[in-house]
Amino acid sequence: MRPLFIAGNWKMNPTTRDDAVKLALEVKAGVGAEVSPRVAVCPPAIFLAAIDEALAGSPIGLGGQNMHAKTDGAYTGEISAPMLVDVGCTHVILGHSERRHGMGETDAMVNQKLLAALAAGLIPIVCLGETLEERETDRTESVVTTQLTGSLAGLSAEQMAGVVLAYEPVWAIGTGRVATPDQAQHVHAFIRQSLARSFDQATASRVVVQYGGSVKADNASELLSCPDIDGALVGGASLKSPDFLGIISAARAVESAGKS
Ligand code: PEP
Repeated sequence: MRPLFIAGNWKMNPTTRDDAVKLALEVKAGVGAEVSPRVAVCPPAIFLAAIDEALAGSPIGLGGQNMHAKTDGAYTGEISAPMLVDVGCTHVILGHSERRHGMGETDAMVNQKLLAALAAGLIPIVCLGETLEERETDRTESVVTTQLTGSLAGLSAEQMAGVVLAYEPVWAIGTGRVATPDQAQHVHAFIRQSLARSFDQATASRVVVQYGGSVKADNASELLSCPDIDGALVGGASLKSPDFLGIISAARAVESAGKS
């Protein structure tokens, strides 16, 4: 069965290395040696090396929030997949809506980054999801289909099985407006059916699909209990250790109740 996977996207927070290390140490202490659910934190790139050091000996994964598709060269301000690996990263978030909608990142760009991340041995977390206008005009499934087709182009079934997807309805990110479990489960099931068509049923059953969008300790349990929701990509609530640990505890309880 699929393990639950909780990842924290710290975005451009906190503003100092000391605060970032403090947060990482608090999460490390709370997680202890538990490997289930899987947990990762994705701090700002400039703090990755410090957080890697802080997390030494912990099962918590470390992720970048973005990367360039090339390995090296004249790309001022950019960071490559081998660089992320070199500072201790195991994961990388790709195609977050704040990059798709705020910085013009396209499915083709996400696809190039995804292939580069896999070549470097990183576990990619590929984000997708519709805007409010797209949902209200009944285009959620077509938008998600386009994102899946473009972002995942050229992947083998074996590569696909190692990719994490994060369904994040844009209208639920950072808004406090969470998708209902029914809404989220519907799209997660749709994503899995699409994967079965594009790859095969066995691959579709292996892919971890996280939900993201205003996940908190008090709504995590009902979301994570849905059959096709395999974890959460958490923004705001990953910045306070009690809140993030509360989500991890909720995931552990869902697992203990027999989900995975
Ligand atoms: C995110 O940034 O991926 C996210 C889901 O943010 P939030 O949890 O704050 O909605």
